[in-house]
Amino acid sequence: MPELPEVEVTRLSFADRIAGARILSANLGKPLRWPLGCAPQQLAGRVVRGVRRRGKYLLIDLDEGLLLLHLGMSGSLSFARDLPAAGVHDHFDLVTTQGVLRLNDPRRFGAVVHAAGESAPQALKLLGRLGVEPLGDDFDAQAFHAALRRRHAPIKQVLLAGDIVVGVGNIYASEALFLAGIRPTTAASRISLPRARLLHAAVRDVLARAVAKGGSTLRDFSNAHGQSGYFQLEAMVYDRAAEPCRTCAAPIRRIVQGQRATYYCPRCQR
Ligand SMILES: [Zn+2]
Repeated sequence: MPELPEVEVTRLSFADRIAGARILSANLGKPLRWPLGCAPQQLAGRVVRGVRRRGKYLLIDLDEGLLLLHLGMSGSLSFARDLPAAGVHDHFDLVTTQGVLRLNDPRRFGAVVHAAGESAPQALKLLGRLGVEPLGDDFDAQAFHAALRRRHAPIKQVLLAGDIVVGVGNIYASEALFLAGIRPTTAASRISLPRARLLHAAVRDVLARAVAKGGSTLRDFSNAHGQSGYFQLEAMVYDRAAEPCRTCAAPIRRIVQGQRATYYCPRCQR
């Protein structure tokens, strides 16, 4: 599943190249998770102003309105001057004067949704409940601690919920909690300010490193399908059950929280 770093790497790979392009046509394949919300021919003539990211959504700003794009479970984007004819898993082509943006999505949990603006109901429905951006200036350690104090659920699940801070997926949550020395089962409300500061820094560190690694491996974006930044990171705990901790050599433990696997070191994380 594409996580925040992969979505950010995807954005960086085509945002500059599509900016300023005029849309010639939008071509739909099989239905995605949600309908486009406008007739595709309505998009023709619109100009792409730029591409932003909010959580795991890409926001393609047009001179009128915007497109919200989500990669779902298995989506990937390519942007190129020339692409072969749309294949069986290509479900959205945005043909522009500067190239074709194509969504390939075998499982079709992804979506492209048109909205008149960021405060239009179609956009609010998707973006309205998202927490702050982990890599942005609004993600503040003290406010993070204050928000955690109001949650009694285990910290791992509070991170995954995405309403305090967005984009900390399963892998990154396990890794950040290891770096901060916090056991994933700890009630969020019981985490002290100094430990919340460590976790805040760890979340930013893990995500920023994944973006940097992903960015350096995706030079040719037309070959980006299936590549994931996090595969480049050397995990400290994730998917390392029973293997020795890289810090203290204790065997890494695997537990299940909310149907998701969690990995931690019983000695380094308290
Ligand atoms: Zn350890």
